Amino acid sequence: MAKLTFYGAARQVTGSMHLLEANGKLIVLDCGMFQGRRAESRELNRRHPCDPKTIHAVIVSHAHIDHTGRLPLLARDGFTGVIHATPATRDLCAIMLADSAHIQEEDARFLNKRRRHQDEPVIEPLYTAADAVQAVAQMQASPYQRWFKVASGVHARFFEAGHMLGSAGIEVEITEANGRKKVLVFTGDVGRWGIPILRDPAPLPECDYLICESTYGGRNTDAIADLKPKLAEVVRRTVARRGRIIIPAFSVGRTQTLVYYLRQLFTSGELPALPVYIDSPLAVNATEIFRLHPECYDHDAREFGSHTGSILGGPSFEFVQSVEESKSVTRRRAPCIVIAASGMCEAGRILHHLRHAVQYERNTILIVGFQAAHTLGRRIVERNEYINIYGERHKLKAEVVVMNGFSSHADARELKAHTDSLAGRCKKVFLVHGEIDQSSALADTMRASGHREVHIPAMNEGFTLD
Ligand SMILES: [Zn+2]
Repeated sequence: MAKLTFYGAARQVTGSMHLLEANGKLIVLDCGMFQGRRAESRELNRRHPCDPKTIHAVIVSHAHIDHTGRLPLLARDGFTGVIHATPATRDLCAIMLADSAHIQEEDARFLNKRRRHQDEPVIEPLYTAADAVQAVAQMQASPYQRWFKVASGVHARFFEAGHMLGSAGIEVEITEANGRKKVLVFTGDVGRWGIPILRDPAPLPECDYLICESTYGGRNTDAIADLKPKLAEVVRRTVARRGRIIIPAFSVGRTQTLVYYLRQLFTSGELPALPVYIDSPLAVNATEIFRLHPECYDHDAREFGSHTGSILGGPSFEFVQSVEESKSVTRRRAPCIVIAASGMCEAGRILHHLRHAVQYERNTILIVGFQAAHTLGRRIVERNEYINIYGERHKLKAEVVVMNGFSSHADARELKAHTDSLAGRCKKVFLVHGEIDQSSALADTMRASGHREVHIPAMNEGFTLD
């Protein structure tokens, strides 16, 4: 008998990890990091669902750290099996896990400085760059739609999730000793229809059990079609007053979407070409990986690429590597666009771009991602009169524009349409990866659509798949 237990992203949105026991083997679906309050997440991240040595295999849906960030820990603590992923996910993990390890090491160094001062014992980083390298070495790539063997009597294949480059849903077929078959489908994170560059999510396969994400189970977001014209309008307005446009953006995904839109607007002549600086080493590496995986592109991106030679660059785009180059961008007088990390303005090079821009009315700060409470990004969204950057107080005079439609998660309407086809056909649905209000809203919608059993599992809660 198969069993499914939830060890993360249970009534919350981070730490995605679900343990499947099938034919006597332990198989982990996603191995994500808990993010949020530091001490609490630290505790949760260090805990494994079982002895890693006993885990047979891992399958990951996509490269976001809340779905892969604990892989290095698993590898360090004795897991020696295969980590299955799509080819683009494997390549993105190589840079994103290295970046995550770097953050862990920096974090520990910072905390230890204070701890030494107070005569407290030093702490070890959650994991190191070497652990990240080890995890990536255990990854094995399988393309979309091709079945691969996970364990005896357990096969799986990936299907398009449309959420980020390489993102996939996972279809697992279990054949038990008596010959009975069961199909479990895990959606991973469900993307949106019409996201630039990426294909739309593929229809969900027929299944007996469904694990579905519910980040926006009860909320609708702005239409994607409006984004490009809105972006053009913001740029036009700012250039007319000779200002610069500063865009804090997450390095993987959001940055490439912006570059793609701008490249299209310059090519079509809707906007006069102006310099665009992509100022984040991780974004530079991630863009290279986007270029390596045209097999993940949608029809429009392929067409556009075949006409222009490159969808993510061109004469006006400069990928900034060194800190010196980054600083020289802030000294430029002419209008330009700067895309830099971090997305919530908490760290990274975005800080010195903001420091040189916020006090002038001619400039625009364009917010394209969610800004958590107590972050500098949130204070900018709330248009505080004064904001602190590097401990200095600055008057916020620049224009602030917020565009919400860049989310890469399906909203309530899209999740309903996506799951409706399985209503009445699938035995049990498990809703994960959502705050409880969002998961509950989706559960109500799905029950109304005819889904018989919809559960919102709690942390460590297990179910038999009979
Ligand atoms: Zn994701």
